[in-house]
Amino acid sequence: MKRIGVLTSGGDAPGMNAAIRAVVRNGIYKKLEVMGIRHGFLGTIKNTYHKMVRGSVADIIHRGGTVLQTARCDEFLSPAGRAQAAENIRKAGIDGLVIIGGDGSMRGAQLLEQEQDIPVACVPATIDNDVGRTDFCIGFDTAMNTVIDAVNKIRDTATSHERIFVVEVMGRQRGFLTLHAGLAAGAESIVIPERPLSIDDICKKLEHGFKRGKKHSIIMVAEGVGGDFQVNRDLYQSKAFSLAEDISRQVGRETRVIILGHLQRGGNPSARDRILASRMGAHAVDLLLAGEKSVMSGVVHEQLVHTSIELALAEEPALNKEMLELAHILSL
Ligand code: ADP
Repeated sequence: MKRIGVLTSGGDAPGMNAAIRAVVRNGIYKKLEVMGIRHGFLGTIKNTYHKMVRGSVADIIHRGGTVLQTARCDEFLSPAGRAQAAENIRKAGIDGLVIIGGDGSMRGAQLLEQEQDIPVACVPATIDNDVGRTDFCIGFDTAMNTVIDAVNKIRDTATSHERIFVVEVMGRQRGFLTLHAGLAAGAESIVIPERPLSIDDICKKLEHGFKRGKKHSIIMVAEGVGGDFQVNRDLYQSKAFSLAEDISRQVGRETRVIILGHLQRGGNPSARDRILASRMGAHAVDLLLAGEKSVMSGVVHEQLVHTSIELALAEEPALNKEMLELAHILSL
């Protein structure tokens, strides 16, 4: 292996830049040539290959987003699109790819290797943290801290006005971010797709809190709850609004909604995400050099591990019921 490519794909996540930096610098250290590819899989088709040197990744470890930019690429969903990508990758003299992205990007990477025999090593990066065989994905820790910071601010105004706030957190199918941030932020109720709460449960808890003198209430809801997001993204309506209306009617108190939205993807990556991204990015290069096939780098119990993409996709981390129960107990 003499030349490798690196790209970021799918939803962006803070820490992707630290991973790109580690791929480029570890690759060069290991005597490889490293080509950056802009705009994810789309770039493999549109030929956005460019040589990267150590200086190309200077001054990016602390920046959110991705300097290689990212994209969603429909062409890559078809075998013909992946064949075109493989032809261009070969023409560019690239012997293996590091793909930094979420589960969708990993599915694309796996097919590229299976169908076209292009070696791929994936680095899991998604604020949803919904990939198996790694304790954490790049971006999750930063996003969690961003949510907590926002809830701290909402809490100040909620207390002053004695209001209920429904806060919608990102997470289409999984509620990891909502659960972790909800526990850390001391939310009264956590509503996630894996275990939606009934309106009666939520209101009973609110009334119990007000009786004992609580001045504010924060309900954290994952965006995927109740909405058929995957099937009809354009028509998706936030469940948070109907939930707030129902709560307001039932408990007779003013209820406001905050959709945290894309601010959860932004910001400087946390120390944890920078370290995770640096370790996994460098590891992915080593995995390609070791001749691993269809592989993903991960961190389990603080140790670097590698696993097949297939297993990582098949074994999504299970909901932590103990944390959910604890969040409930602590906010009673
Ligand atoms: P993420 O990687 O953040 O989960 P997406 O699910 O949007 O983001 O996937 C990013 C890109 O990966 C898609 O635009 C597409 O090019 C590719 N991709 C996703 N799913 C598949 C699939 N099943 N087969 C082939 N390529 C896929």
